[in-house]
Amino acid sequence: MAQGLTILGLESSCDDTAAAVVRRDGAGDAEILSNVVIRQDDLHSAFGGVVPEIAARAHAEKIDLAVEQALAEAGVTLTACDAIAVTAGPGLIGGVLAGVMCAKGLSAATGLPLVGVNHLAGHALTPRLTDGATFPYLMLLVSGGHCQFLRVDGPDAFTRLGGTIDDAPGEAFDKTARLLGLPQPGGPSVEAAAAQGKTSVPLPRPLLDRPGLDMSFSGLKTALLRARDAVVAEHGGLPRDRRADICASFQAAMTEVLAEKSRRALHAHPDVTAFAVAGGVAANRSLRAALTELAGGANLPFLAPPLALCTDNAAMIAWAGAELFAGGRRDNLTLAARPRWPLDGDAAPMLGSGKRGAKA
Ligand code: AMP
Ligand code: MG
Repeated sequence: MAQGLTILGLESSCDDTAAAVVRRDGAGDAEILSNVVIRQDDLHSAFGGVVPEIAARAHAEKIDLAVEQALAEAGVTLTACDAIAVTAGPGLIGGVLAGVMCAKGLSAATGLPLVGVNHLAGHALTPRLTDGATFPYLMLLVSGGHCQFLRVDGPDAFTRLGGTIDDAPGEAFDKTARLLGLPQPGGPSVEAAAAQGKTSVPLPRPLLDRPGLDMSFSGLKTALLRARDAVVAEHGGLPRDRRADICASFQAAMTEVLAEKSRRALHAHPDVTAFAVAGGVAANRSLRAALTELAGGANLPFLAPPLALCTDNAAMIAWAGAELFAGGRRDNLTLAARPRWPLDGDAAPMLGSGKRGAKA
């Protein structure tokens, strides 16, 4: 039987400075020994989005602390680890560099091997960490910076089946909140308002009339802006109940588009063993309910990792590193930080880019 592995993981590609220690036993089962996330929300909240320079500086200041804390909580020393896994992209380059430089320093000091991990692979492999998912499975990654369908056939075998051609869903939730005067992050505040409203505002279902799995959310945002302006013109302001109606209608449009595209993806890949989601938007209860029903209808388990492992974290990076390391992957001090790094090199390049930087 293969040997067990203990992997230190580092993540700093957006606005969370994270370090974790994960064990993968000889049978391939996982145990998270620690999972430290130092959030930066307070640093960025005044700007209505992540400011790359502020994020990079905060990562550089906090990444050592996160590593120390992750090792202490796991009760392991650095030299007891088998390798250091680090997010090497895609993401905000200053942040990615902070993590990669830290990992290189630790590797140079200890002689431990490095494994550069694609951040999206971290998300995409999380169902194996949390639920022991078996290949192949289908994943919908929906976050503040990404939206794509992936077919996962192995730790380094991803096929991008389609995705957004402009905004990511989380970005659309955040912009909706901003347009309606609701607090950030927009997802939870729009969801809470939606619970009080009716789906009475007509909003488009972009690209549903076209075949395939590509999606678009920027038109939805424009339609929402018009709906808001119409309410303001009528009432001389935005009454709370009408705002709730706009939120409910927006969430319904979003859910319908994501669910219908998911249905098509599952239909086109009848051999998958599970349907999984990851990313912050997967926290949305309306979306979860729709996707759970869809997977049930296809007789597949619906795998939604706990929220702390859906959003950015280093346990997923350590785990992806463990899977790659077990398969023989080794990087060295020439490891490059990459702002763009498509998971599926064969897929057509994506259009557009969002507030969280370039889409991969
Ligand atoms: P991530 O990019 O994975 O860190 O996730 C953050 C994004 O998820 C932000 O854009 C949030 O607005 C969004 N989000 C968080 N909770 C929810 C929710 N309940 N409904 C919709 N979007 C959400
Ligand atoms: Mg992410």
